[in-house]
Amino acid sequence: MSNKPANNIQDLQYFGEFGGVNPSISDSATYTFLHAKTMLDTFEGHAEGCYLYSRHTSPSNLYLNEALAAMEFTETANVAASGMGAITSVLLQVCGAGDHIVSSRTIYGGTYAFLKNFIPKLNITTSFVDITSLEKIEAAITSTTKMIYCESISNPLLEVANVTALSKIAKKHNILLVVDNTFTPLIISPQKLGADITIHSLTKFINGTNDTVGGVVCASQEFIDSLRSVNDGAAMLLGPVMDSFRSASILKNLRTLHIRMKKHSENALYLAEHFEKDGLKVVYPGLKSHSDHELFKTMYNEEYGFGGIMTIDVGTLKKANELMELMQHNNLGYLAVSLGFYKTLFSAPGTSTSSEIPEEEQVEMGLSDGIIRFSIGLDNDIERTYRAMHKCMTEIGVL
Ligand SMILES: *Cc1c(COP(=O)(O)O)cnc(C)c1O
Repeated sequence: MSNKPANNIQDLQYFGEFGGVNPSISDSATYTFLHAKTMLDTFEGHAEGCYLYSRHTSPSNLYLNEALAAMEFTETANVAASGMGAITSVLLQVCGAGDHIVSSRTIYGGTYAFLKNFIPKLNITTSFVDITSLEKIEAAITSTTKMIYCESISNPLLEVANVTALSKIAKKHNILLVVDNTFTPLIISPQKLGADITIHSLTKFINGTNDTVGGVVCASQEFIDSLRSVNDGAAMLLGPVMDSFRSASILKNLRTLHIRMKKHSENALYLAEHFEKDGLKVVYPGLKSHSDHELFKTMYNEEYGFGGIMTIDVGTLKKANELMELMQHNNLGYLAVSLGFYKTLFSAPGTSTSSEIPEEEQVEMGLSDGIIRFSIGLDNDIERTYRAMHKCMTEIGVL
């Protein structure tokens, strides 16, 4: 395998059954067998290349699994119907009653809600810790801890997880390091830095067209087999299955991910640098002023840049809302959650994606309600975008 994740995706060849340059889409929920014995073998996982039922797996999902595993340098992968479907399957596969998780305190709102409100019902507890403090992370590990959970770059504060150092801590305590890499596909390769399991919401950059939700778990063959076990596999038994039509369309979009990531990063860096010069409070890992800028540079695959996500703090929620409405009115982007679209998307995380986090905790972690999160689009003329956004900011009085 090449050291370049995009090469690994491009080197894969899948043909359709009539020589099509794209693989055929499997349009079946169940599969016939010539011999009853093969059916039994397949059910028990002993018949290579045979399919039984599409909740277990389908040819289309296997193609996408392979491509995502190649991108993340893991043995294999398992796609899911959503990012949350992938995340919850991993958490429930690894942890049982009495177990404990050490999680970054700044994570996707849905993951936070699941850890904070949902799995305590199964007697699984979580300590939420500042991921940038390796001492605090290690101190939170107990005899019942099963994993460290974090995001490569946190949502929405853009703190960078030191995956290399975290993986050393995890190995020392014989626990897993699970990294949600949704913000930085191709840019950061957690597995190469020592992570055990890499998760993505495919909904965002990887699919990139905002026409579906999807997720994936990239890990060892052994772990993916356990997720898919017909007897006790979380993915198999909870059933968050991706449909074949969707996996076929996501695979086609995945093939242009490298071009898109470079453009997202180039545009975001341009805007971040200019708005910072203008005196705004900008957080972007590509800026020297970002506290984890140097750390990021020790981990990233340089050609893809620093990613497409940045935040600007305009002081108050009122100003944030006015600015977002005005920018949308001027067709500079959409007031919408999610990320990785061709169009810039913006939202105020305190009231949208992180609204599950109580207000006191938001203040404590530096999540001011004047923060706007931008997912910078693929604008062809970013100078024009900058000038127009600048005009909006002057009009609202934040510049
Ligand atoms: C969106 C997102 C998720 C959840 O993914 P869905 O596809 O919406 O279920 C998880 N983690 C991060 C970092 C996200 O941005």
